[in-house]
Parts: sequence; C-alpha cells; structure tokens
Amino acid sequence: MLIGAHVSTSGGLAKAVSRGEEIGCRSIQIFNQSPRAWRPTAFTDEDFAAFREAMRESTIESVIIHAIYLINTATPDRDLARKSRESLIHALRVGDAIGADGVVLHPGSRKQEEVVPAIVRSGALIREALSESERCPVLIEQMAGHANILAHTFEEIAGIIEAAGGGKRLGLCLDSCHLYAAGYDIGSYDGIDRMLEDSDRALGKRRLRALHLNDSKEPLGSRRDRHADIGQGEVGETGMARFLSEPRFDGLPATMETPGPERKGPVAADLDLANRLRRRGQSARRRRKS
Ligand SMILES: [Zn+2]
Ligand SMILES: [Zn+2]
Repeated sequence: MLIGAHVSTSGGLAKAVSRGEEIGCRSIQIFNQSPRAWRPTAFTDEDFAAFREAMRESTIESVIIHAIYLINTATPDRDLARKSRESLIHALRVGDAIGADGVVLHPGSRKQEEVVPAIVRSGALIREALSESERCPVLIEQMAGHANILAHTFEEIAGIIEAAGGGKRLGLCLDSCHLYAAGYDIGSYDGIDRMLEDSDRALGKRRLRALHLNDSKEPLGSRRDRHADIGQGEVGETGMARFLSEPRFDGLPATMETPGPERKGPVAADLDLANRLRRRGQSARRRRKS
C-alpha cells in the first residue's frame, strides 16, 4: 500500500511533490483546480514537465487527482452539466499530462430526480469526458450516502460505470470514512470481508484502484461524511490497523484527507502513525492465522 496524503499545489504543481515528500508520502492526491470555483487553472507544458521531473526524482510512486466538488454529473440542468463536463475533461487532461493514476470523482446528487435516469445521465457525461481525453481513468468514489448523493452503494456505482460504457478507464476509489458512514464496519475483519464481497459482486475485482484513509467522526451507518484523524475517530487505531493491513489493498495508492493537528491536513506524524498501524495490523493478521 502506497500510504500518502492529499497535498496542496499552491505555488505550482511541482510544489505538491516536495510537500508530499516532506511528510513521507509514497502517493499524493491533488486538486487540478481550486475546488470551490469553476474557473480551470491554466497550466503550461512547462508546469507539467516540472511536475513529471519532480516525480521522477522523488520517492512518490503515484499521483491521483481529485475532481472538484462542484461537479454534478447527474444534473438535468444543461448549464451545470456543461460546466461539470468541462471541469471533468480538464481534470482528465491534466491527469494525462502528469501521468496520474486516476481522477477521483464524486458523481454528484440526483436532488429530487429519479435514481435510474440520474445514473444514466451521470454515466453519459462521464463517457463524453473520457472520449475527450486519452488515458487517465475516472475513479468513482464510494460516498457516505448523505441526502440524495449518488454512489453510496456499489450497485449505484455499477450502474454509473455501465452507463459510462463499462471500459477499462472506469474504476473505484474506496474511502474508509465513507464506507463506515454507509454502514460497513471496516474496523472489523468481518466488515471488511462483507464490504469487499459486496463490491466484488457488483463491480468485479478489477475496478478498485485507489483508497482514501480517513477515520470517521460520525457513528457507523450515520451516512454523514466527517473525516477524523487516523485512530481519533469511531474506527479507532485497532480498526484502522485492520483496514490498513487488508492484503487485497496491497499496492494501491492510499491518501489521507484528514484534518491534521493544525487543520491544514496530515503532517509527518500522521503518515508515520498510518505506516505503524499497517505493520501492527499485519502482525495481528499473522498471529490470527497461526
Ligand atoms: Zn472525495
Ligand atoms: Zn469524505
């Protein structure tokens, strides 16, 4: 597992790489533009080249882009759909230019609309965005399930992937906090097994490409999405150690989106803790087997 964090790109794309290295990341996640505005950041070829150069010289093995939160791929509103499509295309093209392993996407909310047509609209928009970019996959993020936000069940994610054409550039991102909020007790071995069985049944084994490592401030099944520092939430250290040491997650980029001690994101101590918990979880699994 490539444990890392979401890092800021302020001061330039390549700055994200040094920020990640400073705190001990093996993977990083970045926004391709400010997450609270539609206006895309105009990167140059030099920005992309500097980023790729920084990555080559670093110990970071994977970069993931998080698409902005304003996107709603399920909307029937034409203007919002156009802006959403353009922003997703921008994210995918940046992903192509920097060699990202995926663009993580919240598909959006169906609001008061019916589920099935919303899923069909979402998939169609994602399919168009994929056709306007080369290689970078879209990774649909499993959501906590608040209000009418899509993609909190694996069935809904499967529906979106199917409506988007079902190709190889469609994947899944699992977030430990969202899974817990959606009712999977991922702090227990049984909960992890049950979750992966449900995921495999709906999506097959090959879609999972990335993880988000967050503890949860809200109780199991709350459907509320509030990230806690690792070990400081309802999942706790023992639970996170089990999640972190799940062998089916080996090799995946796993980025933290936790508040951190100064509410500016994870620091080196947070990365250290996650790595220690992973090792502790691996020993516990070995003891359990013998
Ligand atoms: Zn997300
Ligand atoms: Zn979240």
